[in-house]
Amino acid sequence: MLVVMQAHATEQQVEAVCEAITSLGLRPHSLPGAQRTAIGITGNASAIEPGAIEDLPGVAEVIQVSKPYKLVSREMKAENTIIAFPGSPAAIGGKTLAMIAGPCAIESREQAFRIAEHVAGSGAQFFRGGAFKPRTSPYAFQGLGEEALRIMAEIRERFGLLIVTEAVDTESLALVEEYADMIQIGARNMQNFSLLRAAGRARKPILLKRGIAATLDELLMAAEYVMSEGNYQVALCERGIRTFTDHTRNTLDLSIVPAVQRLSHLPIIVDPSHGTGKRNKVIPLARAAVAVGADGLIIEVHPCPEQAFSDGAQSLDLKQFARMMQDLQPYLRLWKESRVTEAAATV
Ligand code: PEP
Ligand code: MN
Repeated sequence: MLVVMQAHATEQQVEAVCEAITSLGLRPHSLPGAQRTAIGITGNASAIEPGAIEDLPGVAEVIQVSKPYKLVSREMKAENTIIAFPGSPAAIGGKTLAMIAGPCAIESREQAFRIAEHVAGSGAQFFRGGAFKPRTSPYAFQGLGEEALRIMAEIRERFGLLIVTEAVDTESLALVEEYADMIQIGARNMQNFSLLRAAGRARKPILLKRGIAATLDELLMAAEYVMSEGNYQVALCERGIRTFTDHTRNTLDLSIVPAVQRLSHLPIIVDPSHGTGKRNKVIPLARAAVAVGADGLIIEVHPCPEQAFSDGAQSLDLKQFARMMQDLQPYLRLWKESRVTEAAATV
């Protein structure tokens, strides 16, 4: 259920509605919009008598949300969610494409600094590096752990890049939250419901990657888990799905971008590195992702991809990353124009 407040409703009236919802044993989620505040209700709302809320001061209407996902849906919030980062001009979902770049794994301070300096110089706003790696083999490199987190904290200080890194389990989540500006939940954990709930209680935005065999609805329901716990700062990420093709590691499903944008207000980012698994396909698919209207890109970069501890085959080298940023320019101009047109159309 969704309570739509009147445009001129006061903060006290919003609060009184939230209290009424809580006293019915349900959870209110107040999401202020440009025109009005909407309050989502989660829990078993079927038992409430609509009049109980409808007649409260400041309420415009109480509506049933028809989709299984509530807080994620555009019915709940018509305007796009923009994820802002305190103290930084960077955002996800706004009028600038979010460029998230870095190595699959932090291997050393020197490697990480070299990449960070280069991607910052080429225009990335976010540095993404793995500290804890979810690997298919238990014998493969698992990441440097907290040492990698400390290196990334230094990178934030030195280059002004925001740090994105993965939490692979509930045990390491608090540590990752302490260091990161944004917490990645990886494809293999998209339906790890206890981790999703814990991410929902974290105070940092979440980057939620699509599972390798997840449908759009499953991705949105995973985001709903995070939001249902009170963390509304979620960006989705298309990183390729498992299909029968064998010319790429995964099949990058770019059609999910407009599909998400139709159903949800959450931003969606595209990862053509994991989405293709092949370096020579990353730049063309990055262009396509911008053309299709993604809110950002995640690109794996390594100074010497042949020697990378993980995902070398899909990592761009430093020169290739700079070239990609150049190649994207005409697409970025069109991207910006279409953002302005869309914003005007929703007013
Ligand atoms: C990664 O980002 O390096 C990673 C392991 O991604 P995914 O969860 O999409 O496989
Ligand atoms: Mn990787």
